[in-house]
Amino acid sequence: MVISDPMKEDFISVRMHSSLHGNHHSGAERLCGEEELEDVSRQLLQRALTHERGEADKVFLRFDSVPSRSVCNGCLPDMQTIEVDSYHDGRAAAMELLEAAGVSARAAAMAMDSLSVGAAPGGANMRGAMLVDAETGRRRESDPSRGVRAKGMDISCGAEKMLRRALARRGLDNGHVREAMVLAAKVISTPGIIAELCWSDDPSYTAGYVASANGYQRLTHLKPAGNERGGRAFFVRPQSSLAEIVDYLENSFLLVTELGRFLESRRWTGDLDE
Ligand code: AMP
Repeated sequence: MVISDPMKEDFISVRMHSSLHGNHHSGAERLCGEEELEDVSRQLLQRALTHERGEADKVFLRFDSVPSRSVCNGCLPDMQTIEVDSYHDGRAAAMELLEAAGVSARAAAMAMDSLSVGAAPGGANMRGAMLVDAETGRRRESDPSRGVRAKGMDISCGAEKMLRRALARRGLDNGHVREAMVLAAKVISTPGIIAELCWSDDPSYTAGYVASANGYQRLTHLKPAGNERGGRAFFVRPQSSLAEIVDYLENSFLLVTELGRFLESRRWTGDLDE
């Protein structure tokens, strides 16, 4: 993704969402300049048609023009990998990271249980994220099938080049990690959200992360290989305004122009404080 000169041009927000047999299949969002529009559209279409879960039978592409004055610049969270031997250890470590970010053990456990069985009604994957009360664990999104989707975020050309170099040195330069870091940058910049938990619904991608003011903490396993259940939980402060949170996530624009720090990997030994 290349954004030529974000100061001069307006942007185009491109959103893709696809389905297969009436169920959510894949989705992605980009912010680009006019000259990149064709390439970006092709990439998103390709993603829906060549997904490991099969070829989508419906693909929706939506384009919206965005004035550059509506786009805020932002920074990626610090990144650290926490190596775990199993998804059980990954979930125990995620629990500890979420508690360190201010999420109650109860809320963290409820979110993990929902993600592991499929957080949408009937045990399906959601299209977006759960909004989980960080204290009680109660779900607060109005539509438990759709959830809430973070939209309108991307990374500038210069920052993306630096990010790819930094990730390549760690063997992590892949679309999953790059996109998740940009999404997490927007989520944790949301007033009222204190943390995010994610693991993918792609059966072969077992890593996931916890993002918060403490950074993007990547866990090497959060689910068993071959498992199709995954999703995201955004933990919200009790009493925060849901309408404001959803409005920020869905309607504001964030262009990442700066990287955070890349910290040494750590191995999980049962307690991150040790
Ligand atoms: P992925 O990391 O793309 O495999 O996405 C895993 C899950 O995260 C999806 O099934 C959705 O439930 C959720 N998700 C994906 N993209 C977004 C988004 N932009 N905002 C909120 N949730 C998302």
